[in-house]
Amino acid sequence: MQLYNTLSAKEREKLIEEAGKDRLTISFYKYAHLGNPKIFRNHLFIHWDELEVLGRIYVAHEGINAQLSVPADNFELFKKHLDSITFLENVRLNIAIEQDNKSFLKLKVKVREKIVADGLNDKTFDVTNKGIHVGAKKFNELIEDPETVLVDMRNHYESEIGHFKNAVTPDVDTFRDSLDIIEKDLAEHKEDKKLVMYCTGGIRCEKASAYYKHKGFKKVYQLEGGIIEYTRQVKNQDLENKFLGKNFVFDHRRGERISEDVIANCHQCGKPCDTHVNCANEACHLLFIQCKECAEAMQECCSLDCKETHSLPYEEQKVLRKGKKASNKIFKKGRSEVLKYKK
Ligand SMILES: [Zn+2]
Ligand SMILES: [Zn+2]
Repeated sequence: MQLYNTLSAKEREKLIEEAGKDRLTISFYKYAHLGNPKIFRNHLFIHWDELEVLGRIYVAHEGINAQLSVPADNFELFKKHLDSITFLENVRLNIAIEQDNKSFLKLKVKVREKIVADGLNDKTFDVTNKGIHVGAKKFNELIEDPETVLVDMRNHYESEIGHFKNAVTPDVDTFRDSLDIIEKDLAEHKEDKKLVMYCTGGIRCEKASAYYKHKGFKKVYQLEGGIIEYTRQVKNQDLENKFLGKNFVFDHRRGERISEDVIANCHQCGKPCDTHVNCANEACHLLFIQCKECAEAMQECCSLDCKETHSLPYEEQKVLRKGKKASNKIFKKGRSEVLKYKK
């Protein structure tokens, strides 16, 4: 039996166009204990391939993390299949609001060490022993409680452009670093305070809440479905929105505006701005915040050096960077001395 893609992305694109049918972009995740991820992987591939599901799915001993494109006509069958898998019964599905029939062109189900790269090597704790999930309404109540410590589990460049009122926003570039900092800062309050946490879509809090419970925190809560689901519930249930600014997202949009507040500033001139850009110099690519005027003056670069390099003929630039691209810096926000107004 063929358990891998037989069509190229191009061929698939053509088929999707010819079919002319709507597809839904769906994501979900679940921490669980999988005895044999490889067998589970093959099981998924066989069933989802049949339903013309496409996407990128990570399967590990610790669970599943999936981003999918499902033909709208097959959604009911797809859902039925998910519900037939014990640990995925009634799993919360995030369905993207924007229609995109070509969000994925292949079905890739990969067995990985982890479903999210979290930098944790601690195998002694149970990832399924997580915090109490709360929806937007309960979350709004909890974060007004004086006994609550509200923690943003995202990285600094994410919380800089948007976060909940009164949240602790660790100055970190990685999830691993934030775990340690928060544990240290709240060491005295393991028993008495309510530790309430949130992230973009909820997956980081699944792991973090289990980690903190393992570390001795007694009252651990997490925002179910993260900022994305919170925003949806606030709209649908007509609740007060307590999120300020933009929700950073990891696609080409970089951020989704949630409230009109602009809480960040241009890293070059300091005026209010919350637009992330990547330095136009391909050898740099630093992620930083830049206003329109500075973008124009600096030709979308982060520094005068980069501006100079960027203005060279492309072939000369290539020689300068010796074929290396600095794509790894895309999310290394503002860790640059030349950005005077970085926070
Ligand atoms: Zn500026
Ligand atoms: Zn640069």
